[in-house]
Amino acid sequence: VALCEAEEAPPACSRPHVGESRFNWKLFWQFLRPHLLVLGAAIVLALGAALVNVQIPLLLGQLVEIVAKYTRDHVGSFLTESRHLSTSLLILYGVQGLLTFGYLVLLSRIGERMAVDMRRALFSNLLRQDIAFFDAKKTGQLVSRLTTDVQEFKSSFKLVISQGLRSCTQVAGCLVSLSVLSPRLTLLLMVATPTLMGVGTLMGSALRKLSRQCQEQVARAAGVADEALGNVRTVRAFAMEHREEERYGAELEESRCKAEELGQGIALFQGLSNIAFNCMVLGTLFIGGSLVAGQQLTGGDLMSFLVASQTVQRSMANLSVLFGQVVRGLSAGGRVFEYMTLSPCIPLSGGCSVPREHLRGAITFHNVCFSYPSRPGFQVLRDFTLTLPPGKIVALVGQSGGGKTTVASLLERFYDPTAGVVTLDGRDLRTLDPSWLRGQVIGFISQEPVLFGTTIMENIRFGKLGATDEEVYAAAREANAHEFITSFPEGYNTIVGERGATLSGGQKQRLAIARALIKQPAVLILDEATSALDSESERVVQEALDRASAGRTVLVGTHEELLKKGGLYAELIRRQALDAPAPEVPR
Ligand code: ADP
Ligand code: MG
Repeated sequence: VALCEAEEAPPACSRPHVGESRFNWKLFWQFLRPHLLVLGAAIVLALGAALVNVQIPLLLGQLVEIVAKYTRDHVGSFLTESRHLSTSLLILYGVQGLLTFGYLVLLSRIGERMAVDMRRALFSNLLRQDIAFFDAKKTGQLVSRLTTDVQEFKSSFKLVISQGLRSCTQVAGCLVSLSVLSPRLTLLLMVATPTLMGVGTLMGSALRKLSRQCQEQVARAAGVADEALGNVRTVRAFAMEHREEERYGAELEESRCKAEELGQGIALFQGLSNIAFNCMVLGTLFIGGSLVAGQQLTGGDLMSFLVASQTVQRSMANLSVLFGQVVRGLSAGGRVFEYMTLSPCIPLSGGCSVPREHLRGAITFHNVCFSYPSRPGFQVLRDFTLTLPPGKIVALVGQSGGGKTTVASLLERFYDPTAGVVTLDGRDLRTLDPSWLRGQVIGFISQEPVLFGTTIMENIRFGKLGATDEEVYAAAREANAHEFITSFPEGYNTIVGERGATLSGGQKQRLAIARALIKQPAVLILDEATSALDSESERVVQEALDRASAGRTVLVGTHEELLKKGGLYAELIRRQALDAPAPEVPR
């Protein structure tokens, strides 16, 4: 009867060890491979630009030599003699500009496309993770991997190719020219530059640390603002505006101090490095000048030397900044790739499914034990056995925290039991296709319905993609929602606001019921579906639920409702007689 892809239950799966996220070069290669041709072109252009940069100082020196000649003795025409050199220089400038334009365009193309591919892959893999994964992670951190980390990785990648390649080539090329021009001066430069670079790098790493602290503080301040603005109703209700202002102000003050400290550090660094570079120029001029005076060097060569040595220094400074960027880029990339390779224990799809006409909807929990992966030592269900006969309503009654929602989650297969089995029509849930189970068999209505910030129509259609408008209307009628929807000026095209903020609790719940009913589920789970409602909306919603329950296997989780009604149950609770979920109570 069942349509199967795999007959046996998949082997139990243990969580892979997640340590410090290391950079996954293999995965990176997969993202890079489609762009290799363009990357090759970009590298060639960047190398070309760097080589042109090496040529420029040499030509400049020759030009200066001509100028110097004319300052000494005014014979011949300066213009004719310098025209050739000047045109060559102009052409080189043009070529350099074009090459730079070319490789930057190509790099930005590669970077943006890789970023899109990476975000897509990461997002789709995040959506596939187990519910237990999301229990343990903060949503904000997951989102920042999609945004900030990909961004950081992309800019590092672009910088490494453009700046890194150019700087390395320029350093190498210019060092060759320098040593041809004057080996003695070059030797001097080779001693002085790395020393200064070393000092600069030390200062730079201290500044980077400060800058990281600064960013963390800014993020903390943003977190306070985010919490206050996101929960403005609670803030208003407790008249906490002033307190929140103070809290945000304190965080801002803290981040101002840090930022000013960083500003002072950067200023000091800039000032000192200006002095250092200027002294290097003066030193070169002084020593080079005495070489010129001793006829060991021409004035033009000295000029070439100066320009080339400036290029070397600038390139090396660039490289040291780049080094920090590479480290940050690799760790950002590591964070992005970490969750791309993580595979869930419960797959989204694959396994048996039963055709609708053969589905009865009988559910059994056999000696199920369960503890949440995020709290392994704490057993929520111990030897739990429960039968839901097809087409019958079974109520699970118990105190808050007793495990009613947990039972529903196991039925939805958000988690697998630690021991024991859950079956649907006698088949282990683990052999069934989870997407079929959730998408077509089980309708789940929780205490806090979650809607998406789109139209009512789209929200109901969430239950069954590709449902016709007629099906949506029918589901809404069944859920007692059609009337209030059509009373809105925009009707079914009304946007419900972020998380359904523009609707009342009862209206939201009825949309959630319509959304669950549109898939015509054989099994319905009502997890304290009316407990958060006032008695008037509870009546309308209960009516919809009663209608929806007819002919279906229904699991009701109740606590609040029975408490509200008073009576025996409330009395029992009052006497603290219940400390675990009670056995089934058929209605
Ligand atoms: P009920 O729905 O009956 O109020 P729950 O099934 O939500 O109870 O909770 C049962 C127990 O499991 C509680 O002690 C609760 O703290 C714990 N629990 C619920 N959800 C999680 C979770 N995601 N991770 C860890 N423990 C949880
Ligand atoms: Mg609950």
